[in-house]
Amino acid sequence: MPVKASDIQKLLPENGKKNCKECGLATCFAFAMKLANAGIALEKCSYLSLDSKAQIEDMLQPPIRQVKIGQGPRQVVIGAEEVMYRHQKTFLQPPGLALQIADGESEEIWGNKLAKLAWQYDRLDKISRFDLVALHCTSGDSSRYHKLVERTLAETDAGLILMADEPGCLLAAYEASKNRNPLVCVTAENYTQVVPNLDKSAAVCARAKSLETLADLSGKLKEMGLENLVLEPGSRTLPDLVRDQTIIRRASLLHKFRTLGYPTLFYGPAVTSDIDTQLLLASAGIARYAGIIVLDDVSPAGFETLLTVRQDIYTDPRVAPTVESKVYSFNEADESAAVLVTTNFALTYYAVAGETENSKLPVYLLCQDTGGLCVLAAWSTGKFVPETIAEMVKKQSLADKVTHKQLILPGYVARLKGDLEDELPGWEILVGPREATDLPKYLHELKKRRNSVA
Ligand code: SF4
Repeated sequence: MPVKASDIQKLLPENGKKNCKECGLATCFAFAMKLANAGIALEKCSYLSLDSKAQIEDMLQPPIRQVKIGQGPRQVVIGAEEVMYRHQKTFLQPPGLALQIADGESEEIWGNKLAKLAWQYDRLDKISRFDLVALHCTSGDSSRYHKLVERTLAETDAGLILMADEPGCLLAAYEASKNRNPLVCVTAENYTQVVPNLDKSAAVCARAKSLETLADLSGKLKEMGLENLVLEPGSRTLPDLVRDQTIIRRASLLHKFRTLGYPTLFYGPAVTSDIDTQLLLASAGIARYAGIIVLDDVSPAGFETLLTVRQDIYTDPRVAPTVESKVYSFNEADESAAVLVTTNFALTYYAVAGETENSKLPVYLLCQDTGGLCVLAAWSTGKFVPETIAEMVKKQSLADKVTHKQLILPGYVARLKGDLEDELPGWEILVGPREATDLPKYLHELKKRRNSVA
């Protein structure tokens, strides 16, 4: 919730009425307004008492701290969320997805999992990958864990999560990977030995077995000077996961409970070793506030499912997803290709594009800019009508691309056929199926009809 300027003003000199103008603003209230919008530094007012300054700094802190892990283009930014429910505004920072590698696993498995960190999924004009790799010391052998850390640093640019109980082993891994800005996991048992040896700017994950012990550990880490914290509440079932994540979000956002005001981590391998169940839990974690999700392993289908769920939940609900308005070619479209027309609403495009590819027949797909509205919504608001379709057909010179001059309308707007024929003299307007799933059959029947006429 945004800070009110009037609340800040009360803490300014002389109850916010001094108005000396030395900060460069006409009044203390103007200064408070700028502070609330992060437009001026608190230090510009030199009359603040230490107590007032501390109170204002506390008020200006975001309820959930933003934390960065990793370096360069693969850096993960989590936290700084502002709402409980997506429909209130939008969720801001997609959770970082992490693949776990245990040093107790064979080196062949290390290699397989490191290769998965390079997998890519291209959807809605965005390429997604695993963001992080969680390196877990399960062997109890420091030299083997160090070998895994070194190999991971050499083979991927993903951010690192370091998980080892033994402080010496953990600190050696931290020193080796410090330039990569790793997330260092500590517990109530080892933090007193680990934290004094970390940089104050280090990203640290507090791992506990319950919310009560987590709040205690988080408070102690803050007292030791750490700011970039991530919280792992030790959820061990699906209901635990939903409850713990919800309590942390509510406590930080609605009650400004500072010790829980950090992004969270959900550790799937602690719940089950079954990777399909981990996938289901991860999906719940994406919907329910997890900042980082760690998985043991994933199949290619599971990988794409997870990234689709993440992208859908973290799409701004106020902005319709769109694709570029242009002519798309499928299956080596040539002058005999069928010509389909639809809108540039991304979900419509991907449904039509997928079935068009499945048909294995050459197709041009004309996506008209409707501001991301689907076919029926665009038609009902006058954005997908004969005039606009005809204009795009002419602008894209479709008559020069094909020899047959047949244009296929979506079945839902069959009523546009007559008027569109008036707008596009010489074109035959066909009515396609209502559902994208019926497109392959329709296209094959159309081809047969054309062949029989020829
Ligand atoms: S310098 Fe401080 S006291 Fe003076 S006007 Fe600005 S906010 Fe008010």
